[in-house]
Amino acid sequence: MTQPDQSSAARTPDLKQLIAQMTLEEKADLCSGKDFWHTRDIERLGIPSIMMTDGPHGLRKQAEGADHLGLSDSVPATCFPSAAGIASSWDRKLITRMGEALGEECQAENVAILLGPGANIKRSPLCGRNFEYFSEDPYLSAEIAASHIRGVQSRGVGTSLKHFAVNNQEHRRMSVDAIVDERTLREIYLASFEGAVKQGRPWTVMSSYNRVNGTYASENEILLSDILKEEWGLEGFVVSDWGAVNERADGLAAGLELEMPSSGGIGAAKIAEAVGNGSLPEKKLDAAVERILRIVFRSVEEKVEHASYDKEQHHRLAREVASESMVLLKNENGILPLKRSGRIAVIGELAKRPRYQGGGSSHIKPTKLDNIYDEFAGEAGEAQVSYADGYKLKGDKVDENAIAEAVKLARESDVTVLFAGLPDAYESEGYDRSHLRLPDNQLRLIEELTRAGAKLVVVLSNGSPVEMPWLGGVKGLLEAYLGGQALGGAIADLLFGAVSPSGKLAETFPMRLEDTPAFLNFPGNGDRVEYREGIYVGYRYYDKKAVEPLFPFGFGLSYTTFAYSDLKLGAASAAADEGVEVSVKVTNTGGVKGKEVAQLYVRDVESAVDRPQRELKGFEKVELEPGESTTVYFALDRRAFAYYDVQKSGWRVESGVFEVSVGSSSRELALTAEVQIEGDEPKPEPIHRNSLIGDLMQPGRLSPEQKALLDDFLRGGLFTPPAEDEAPAGTDGEEDDEHDEQGNAGMMEAVGRYLPLRAAVGFAAKPDGERKLGDLLEKLNG
Ligand code: BGC
Repeated sequence: MTQPDQSSAARTPDLKQLIAQMTLEEKADLCSGKDFWHTRDIERLGIPSIMMTDGPHGLRKQAEGADHLGLSDSVPATCFPSAAGIASSWDRKLITRMGEALGEECQAENVAILLGPGANIKRSPLCGRNFEYFSEDPYLSAEIAASHIRGVQSRGVGTSLKHFAVNNQEHRRMSVDAIVDERTLREIYLASFEGAVKQGRPWTVMSSYNRVNGTYASENEILLSDILKEEWGLEGFVVSDWGAVNERADGLAAGLELEMPSSGGIGAAKIAEAVGNGSLPEKKLDAAVERILRIVFRSVEEKVEHASYDKEQHHRLAREVASESMVLLKNENGILPLKRSGRIAVIGELAKRPRYQGGGSSHIKPTKLDNIYDEFAGEAGEAQVSYADGYKLKGDKVDENAIAEAVKLARESDVTVLFAGLPDAYESEGYDRSHLRLPDNQLRLIEELTRAGAKLVVVLSNGSPVEMPWLGGVKGLLEAYLGGQALGGAIADLLFGAVSPSGKLAETFPMRLEDTPAFLNFPGNGDRVEYREGIYVGYRYYDKKAVEPLFPFGFGLSYTTFAYSDLKLGAASAAADEGVEVSVKVTNTGGVKGKEVAQLYVRDVESAVDRPQRELKGFEKVELEPGESTTVYFALDRRAFAYYDVQKSGWRVESGVFEVSVGSSSRELALTAEVQIEGDEPKPEPIHRNSLIGDLMQPGRLSPEQKALLDDFLRGGLFTPPAEDEAPAGTDGEEDDEHDEQGNAGMMEAVGRYLPLRAAVGFAAKPDGERKLGDLLEKLNG
């Protein structure tokens, strides 16, 4: 595609001057959509209207005169794999290339802003929209989101990073209040957006429907202004999710510039009224208008005239992205790749009616669609491929005849490939799942095929994990996610070994729903959902609780093997601000070319605050020929060691030893090294009546002078421990004496350690105790 021709392109006018010419009504008007998909134009001032549309894995541009729910038919566009899949590629460059293709399609269709990507964290596998989100891990999610954004925007098209923030369920999504503590908010839910905003610099961010700690996201000043704009530096505007505006003037005051879609003048009237009665400063409105206009004119500047794109080339790219997004989860006795000979049974309606995208606003009309069965048969060479339905996607009803036919075919075949997964009705925008099971008719089919002794390979199409009580009976398992329009070719490439699988799970697969971190608090009671699991989301939870997952975060097999060696840290000790360079050698030790995702996790070995067992802080995907090695480099910055300190309202690094581990999944970390990090000076907490003696006695807590004062105070007889020879009641006999003494000493030590200063005074029961304690505190706190 041709790049924007800057010489002839329109230039952004002086925005301040332009705004000065606008009436209050015009300014208020500009802050709401013109219709379902466009911003307002003002002809007399030469302000054009621009179009935005969904997103995120393809373009859903509705034809002129579309319905007002925005759900009617759209123009054909390339359907790439949905987010759950592309995150499993762990491939920044590939996702950027996909973004470039999306940007080209937007230019060709005159779309200025693509509504996506979604960076919400997968809190529970039940969330109906998980297929549109990347990961349970904020670092991975942010990296993939930023790569997507960079790609789209490199083509002169904006993105709208969504849904900001804490929108992790569909149940009551327009009213639910997500109650989440500040540290969890910062470390998990916001961190995913933070990295995407800082690195990707999206033109716009979409605020979500829900409330966060009591305030609607669309009128949450802390989120929209303080954090998003002030702290993270968003230059563009915030747009509401479609219909997310509660009180328009409050939203604008909080930092919501654009209301979408049009509210038919209601929003504008409320803004004008608020400015008129002085409750909304006009300056605030001007600033909002400026942010909107900056993006409107930027898109005009970067518009490529007569743009077009190559549909076939984009289809090939969709196939490449799909093949890197699928995850090989089981391969017993090397059943895969399949041989191109003998008899192969293909079973399951999903082979002929593939599920390749999810339901809701991201649902697009593909330019073409692979039939998995045809692609599979086309790759099968000499093999004789036959097909049986086995089940129908419509309804869960077990069809004994269909099962009998499938079992018969499997018996006559050398290997059986079953296409299973979740039908459309099982997961979609708008509602959550209530369980993790496959439909009953598929479960029965798997049971019967297993019982018949079929050599079974299962290919799953789903947007979020399913439970697999049947896993023991299958030899091979490929998680294909929702693979986009070219999924058939990608699946055939992987199953027959033209491409070696290289996807890794971007989320934990649990054994059962009851094992999931949010199980007890999802989707909440009424309009309140409490995020009680805190920072322990995804693998952070499974690791800390030692809950065995079905498949851990970061896991994925290949047709080759990789070895890790030579883990090196740039320094044995470093100041947090300097960061640490890490390198490791990865070798392809198997027989075929393949790609490996080297993952780096950090652990704070000893911490005064509760921290996860390990956290992902780096990853690189490399391609290696058999026998080939390469060195992978990572740069760990300050943030890689930090936690969010609520008292300090900022990121803090504790001094001490950190472990850096590298390997092929969160649970297969081949190599570990240690680094001594010099972090932030501990902020001295004021010492008060309720400070514990043991805490004050911790090495380094008090200066020698302070320590001497405290010793004096305690020795001054304010607290006299009971005499050592006083045997506790109920003990006698020599044998027990030693034991009792040790026990008593231990207990006394514990009592002393956990004793607040004021209790020491109280126990001593001396009249001047309180006064002396007051003096001591004054001296200690300087
Ligand atoms: C969805 C958004 C989408 C918008 C426009 C909303 O219902 O939550 O993700 O971009 O509609 O279709």
